[in-house]
Amino acid sequence: MICNLCPHRCGKRPGYCGAGETPRVFRWGPHFGEEPPLVGDKGSGCVFFSRCTMKCLYCQNSPWSWQGRGEDKSIAELSQIFRDLALKDGCGNWNLVSPTPYLPFVREALARLRKEGVCLPVVWNSSGYERVETLAEYGELLDWALFDLRYSRDATALKASGVKDYVEHARAAFKYAVEQRCGPERAICRILVLPGHHEEAIESLAWLAAELGTEVMVSVMAQYTPAYKALATPPFDRPVTPKEYAEVAEAAADFGFERGWVQDLAASDPKLALFGENMDKGHGTVQ
Ligand code: SF4
Ligand code: SF4
Repeated sequence: MICNLCPHRCGKRPGYCGAGETPRVFRWGPHFGEEPPLVGDKGSGCVFFSRCTMKCLYCQNSPWSWQGRGEDKSIAELSQIFRDLALKDGCGNWNLVSPTPYLPFVREALARLRKEGVCLPVVWNSSGYERVETLAEYGELLDWALFDLRYSRDATALKASGVKDYVEHARAAFKYAVEQRCGPERAICRILVLPGHHEEAIESLAWLAAELGTEVMVSVMAQYTPAYKALATPPFDRPVTPKEYAEVAEAAADFGFERGWVQDLAASDPKLALFGENMDKGHGTVQ
């Protein structure tokens, strides 16, 4: 199988992400921890796909992102997962978590459901490391963009996530989502504050304000918790300090973003933050 879906452009499978030629899913179910517009009464209908196009040394989902745990699904089985999220769980959207290696299969699974009249808005939930060409080709999976802007400096992205050209791609991807697909009312930019790199969160906020304006929704996230390879890699081996976090929160206010969320650092629970490491595979609610 030829694969150029993400910026790695491996040309073949398996490539950098390790995904095979069958979609693999770790877990699916209603998720109540996403941003408020996506949650509603019944949760956001998340499907956590195995593998990932980045390799973050602090990944909280390493059992399925790095190590590829999960179950291979046929197109019919994938359709059934989406059908159950819509009809049994009553979720208000389909939330595709790191779907990029499996986009052709997701498209086919959802196309079958649309023929049955089962249709929900689709959330593309991404690290931001995407190709604009792929977003355009799979535009029907981009009703909502829930994209990260994790770094503003490529050297950090290379060290911490193993990708050399993150900034260019992530900024272009979110800009495309806002301007060409979703508009500011259906695009959320997540800013995860990283220890020792909080200036990059501020630089990302500055870029957002300058390029896309202050109407865009930003979600400043306090949940960083050292995990996996970060435990032995300073400065990622420590939590974000209150001073670092406060500087980012103040910057978000100073730039004048009109809509969004700033998580409370003091209320951030490290056990919850590591939920991905402790989550079982299969179907189930995610808090
Ligand atoms: S933190 Fe997110 S983007 Fe990074 S490897 Fe894990 S799942 Fe992928
Ligand atoms: S999705 Fe995976 S195989 Fe395809 S280009 Fe990206 S890293 Fe390579």
